[in-house]
Amino acid sequence: MVPNFDVKGKVFVITGAAGILCSEMARELGELGARVAVLDLNEERAKEVAKEICDKGGDALGLKANVLDKDSLTAARDAVLEKFGTIDVLINGAGGNRPDASTSPDLSFFDMPPEALRFVFDLNLVGAILSSQVFGKVLTDKKEGNIINISSMSALRPLTNVLGYSAAKAAVSNFTAWLAGHFALNYSPNIRVNAIAPGFLLTEQNRFLLKDKETGEMTPRAKHIIGQTPMGRYGTPEELVGAIVFLASDAASFVTGTVLCIDGGFGNFAI
Ligand code: NAD
Repeated sequence: MVPNFDVKGKVFVITGAAGILCSEMARELGELGARVAVLDLNEERAKEVAKEICDKGGDALGLKANVLDKDSLTAARDAVLEKFGTIDVLINGAGGNRPDASTSPDLSFFDMPPEALRFVFDLNLVGAILSSQVFGKVLTDKKEGNIINISSMSALRPLTNVLGYSAAKAAVSNFTAWLAGHFALNYSPNIRVNAIAPGFLLTEQNRFLLKDKETGEMTPRAKHIIGQTPMGRYGTPEELVGAIVFLASDAASFVTGTVLCIDGGFGNFAI
């Protein structure tokens, strides 16, 4: 049997889709013929990303949606259903960190404010759960579909300082396995739930941490990261898309509850 990686015509809902990684996914999925609902707290950017997809001949809709507000998610779901008629894949992309949920020379573990930890837990974990409730209902009603969460390397190997984010992403990996079992057992084995765990990617956002502004040389932090990565380089946002296509397509028809690392070997090998 030839594996079927086709995502053409499938309706993807992507939260946080105005961000660096998920806007890249949205654009590439649009080029592959998927229909894409670009959801983000930042409505203006969501609409811009949708327009870029449409300008290239794709089919996309940009909408404001706050993953921490069920009414906002429900309104977005209704708009997606009105435009596309169905939903096939939910990518829970909204997520991130906050400086005061990480230790630093100015903030010890003992002084970390609980509201910072709650913010990071809410954004990464509760946001993925609420979105899966609202959009997942469409999948359980039609008894098929896919959810893809975004975990992180720091769920697997907690990185120095980032306490809140590491714990929240570990919870996202756990939720992935939980929901995969829950949907398969109670609704349909044709609803799959998986996650990707990106490793270190070089993006505009972290370039200043990883490359010296003047010389372009790797910073000490960058040398340490690359030294721990068997493939000896960073990844790029585009390199996440192959895994998304795999997980969302029939090629992964027996894959559920898993976290797929896209990390050049960082997570599973100590150098
Ligand atoms: P980003 O900051 O570029 O994008 C995040 C997007 O989420 C932004 O557009 C923001 O407006 C949106 N957002 C924030 N709060 C929201 C809310 N309440 N509701 C809806 N949208 C909201 O981040 P990114 O680097 O593209 O990361 C995307 C995902 O990948 C996140 O879950 C992140 O934790 C994860 N991740 C990123 C990396 C990396 O190297 N960049 C590595 C591992 C995991």
